[in-house]
Amino acid sequence: MKIVIDPGHAGRNVDPGAVNPVSGLQEADVALIVSRLVATQLLEAGHEVKMTRTEWEQAETDDLEYRTSLANDWGADVFVSIHCNSVANPAAKGYEIWTSPGETQGDELATCIYEQIAMEFPDRAGRADYSDGDPDKESRFYVLVHTDAPACLVELAFISNDEEAALLADAKWQGLYAQAIARGIEDYVNRRGGAK
Ligand SMILES: [Zn+2]
Repeated sequence: MKIVIDPGHAGRNVDPGAVNPVSGLQEADVALIVSRLVATQLLEAGHEVKMTRTEWEQAETDDLEYRTSLANDWGADVFVSIHCNSVANPAAKGYEIWTSPGETQGDELATCIYEQIAMEFPDRAGRADYSDGDPDKESRFYVLVHTDAPACLVELAFISNDEEAALLADAKWQGLYAQAIARGIEDYVNRRGGAK
């Protein structure tokens, strides 16, 4: 399987993504760290893996078309984007997974990852939308709509919430989270026939 992991935002001075106002933790950095860990897991499992951003700051990745073209030109089978959430309400917490609207293979991918996150972190809040029978939320995010491969976008936690920002900065937690996401991707691959 050809798997693309997409660390959200171009990083640092170009686009750090959301930033925790107290610790200064940047979404783009967390996304890259967790993406690298997910990629390592999947490589060890025998898959082919590409990341759309590999550096702390990579200006060309600010253009989302660069990211989707990389996946499409390579013929990716799976596309998973990694982000952190942020809102004005500092108490908001939990994880979410997004897919493009309508029923697609991305829904199945999202469900597999969601279930693994829920299993890894049973005490954390999953912000699911079960109105259409599965836990993902749906929106026309650019990278979800413009990738040919089944795609989903994981919002790991709220970087705007100090408690969750501390978790997002914690190496052990990052590792557990990455393993859960990698297991979810593996699950999806196995359900699709299991090709490496
Ligand atoms: Zn983001």
